[in-house]
Amino acid sequence: MPCPYSVKTMRTVIGLEVHAQLLTKTKLFCSCSADYFGAPPNAHTCPVCLGMPGALPVLNERAVEYALKAALALHCEVLSRSTFARKNYFYPDLPKGYQISQFDEPLAVNGSLDLPKRIRIRRVHLEEDAGKLLHTETGVTLVDLNRAGVPLIEIVSEPDLSSPEEARLYMEELRRVLRYLGVCSGDMEEGSLRCDANISVSPDTALGTKTEIKNLNSFKAVEAALAYEVHRQREILERGGSLTQETRLWNEKTGQTEPMRSKEESEDYRYFPDPDLVPLQVDDAWREKVQKSLPELPAAKRARWAQEYKLPEYDIAVLTEERPIAEYFEAVVKLYNSPKDVSNWVMSELLRLVKEPTEITITPEHFAQVLQMVSAGQINRTVAKEVIEESFKTGKAPDEIVRQRGLEQISDESMLAEIVARVLAENPKAVADFRSGKEAALGFLQGQVMKATGGQANPKKTRELLSWLLNRDLTPPLP
Ligand code: ADP
Ligand code: ZN
Ligand code: MG
Repeated sequence: MPCPYSVKTMRTVIGLEVHAQLLTKTKLFCSCSADYFGAPPNAHTCPVCLGMPGALPVLNERAVEYALKAALALHCEVLSRSTFARKNYFYPDLPKGYQISQFDEPLAVNGSLDLPKRIRIRRVHLEEDAGKLLHTETGVTLVDLNRAGVPLIEIVSEPDLSSPEEARLYMEELRRVLRYLGVCSGDMEEGSLRCDANISVSPDTALGTKTEIKNLNSFKAVEAALAYEVHRQREILERGGSLTQETRLWNEKTGQTEPMRSKEESEDYRYFPDPDLVPLQVDDAWREKVQKSLPELPAAKRARWAQEYKLPEYDIAVLTEERPIAEYFEAVVKLYNSPKDVSNWVMSELLRLVKEPTEITITPEHFAQVLQMVSAGQINRTVAKEVIEESFKTGKAPDEIVRQRGLEQISDESMLAEIVARVLAENPKAVADFRSGKEAALGFLQGQVMKATGGQANPKKTRELLSWLLNRDLTPPLP
C-alpha cells in the first residue's frame, strides 16, 4: 500500500500529566509522617491511611498551601471552592478501594509555563498517593502502605508540546519551579516527581489518537520514550494502519514502549464527591498571602541576571539551576562586584566542592575575601583554589589560612630575582634552547621557578624577570 502521508507533514502533539509529591511533614488526610523513603514497611500508617471503616480524613492545611504555591507560580486561576472526589478502583495498593482526588472542581485551572514557548496548564489538583507493592522473586507480593495518603499535586498540561525534547525541557523547568518553591524535592528516581506522557501524531491539524506512556522515571526516559513512540505511531500511519487509544509502558532495557492496557475512561472510575470531606474554600486573603510569599522564580531570575550582570547564557543557566547556589552567587557579588569573575570562581571551584546545594560551608564573605586577595596580588590563582578548599572544609577565614600557612604570593622583586637567577644557572640547557629560538623553554623555566617557590611566585613578575634576563644575554651571577 502506498504511503498515504508524507513524513514531513506529520505533526507531533504531546501533553504531560505530572505528579509531584509535596514536602509536607504529614500525609494529606492523617497525621502519619509523609517521609516514607527508607522507613520500615507499614511503619507510617494509621486507621485513616489503612482505610479502616469509620476512620475519617482531615485535610492537611500545609498541603493545600503548597499546592497553592505551585498553582500560583504556574499562573493558574485558583477556584475559591474546590471539592474532593472518590476515584474508585480495586487494587491492593489502595486499601480504601478508592483514591481521594479532585475531579470536576479542581484547586486551580488555566495556568501556563513559559519555556519560553508558552505551554498552557489545564489544571492543578490535590490527591493522595497510593501504597507500594513489592513483587518478590518467590512470587509473593508484599504491600507497603507508608506511601498511601502522601500528598501529591497533579499538574496537567494542554497538548501544547510539539517534540520529545520540548517535553523534557518542560519537565526540567517544572522541576526547577517546584524546587525553588520548596514544595517538592523533584527527585524522579525516587518517584517524588512522576510523569505520564500523552502523545499522538497527526497528518493534519486535527488531534490524532493518543497513547499514554507510564513508567518514566528520568528526564532521559521521558525524551527517549516519546521519541520511540513518535517513530512507532508514524510508521503505523504511514503503512496505512490505525492507532488505538491505549496505555503503554516504557521499558528502559529494550528502549521500547509496550502495550499495558486499553485506556480507561473516567466513567470507569465512578467518580463521586467524597461525603467525608467538606468543599475546600480558598478566600482572597489566603490566596493573596500565598502569592506574596512566592520567591523570584527561575525564569524571572534568568531574565534579571541577563540584564543586571550581563553574564553569558551558559553561566546563568548553571548558576540559577539551584536556588541556594543562585542566592550564594548574588551574596558574593554584593561583596565583590565583578559578576563574571565571581561566576567563573563559583562554577569552577565552588560547584566542584558542593555536594548538596544546601550545604555550602564557605561563607559568601570568605569566598569574596579570596577573590579580593587575588585581585590585590596577595595570592595567586593556584593558591586561591587551595584556600577556597580549605576554608570550605574547615570554615577558617581565608586571610588566616594564608597567614598561617605563609601562602602569600612572592612579588618582592629582589627576592624573586634571586630565585630566577638560581633557576637560570641550574638549567643551562633550557637557557641555550631559548636563546637559539625555542621560545617554549621560557615556559619550562617559569615552571621551575614556580616549583622552587612552592607555587607562590607572582606569575606575571616571574615571566617579566625571566624574559628580561634571557633576552639580554646576561649571564646571571650565581647566588
Ligand atoms: P483523557 O480524558 O484521555 O485522560 P485528557 O483530555 O484528560 O485525556 O488529557 C490528558 C492529557 O493528555 C493532557 O495532558 C492532554 O494535554 C493530553 N492530550 C489530550 N489529547 C491529546 C492528544 N490527542 N495528543 C497528545 N496529548 C493529548
Ligand atoms: Zn495515616
Ligand atoms: Mg484525563
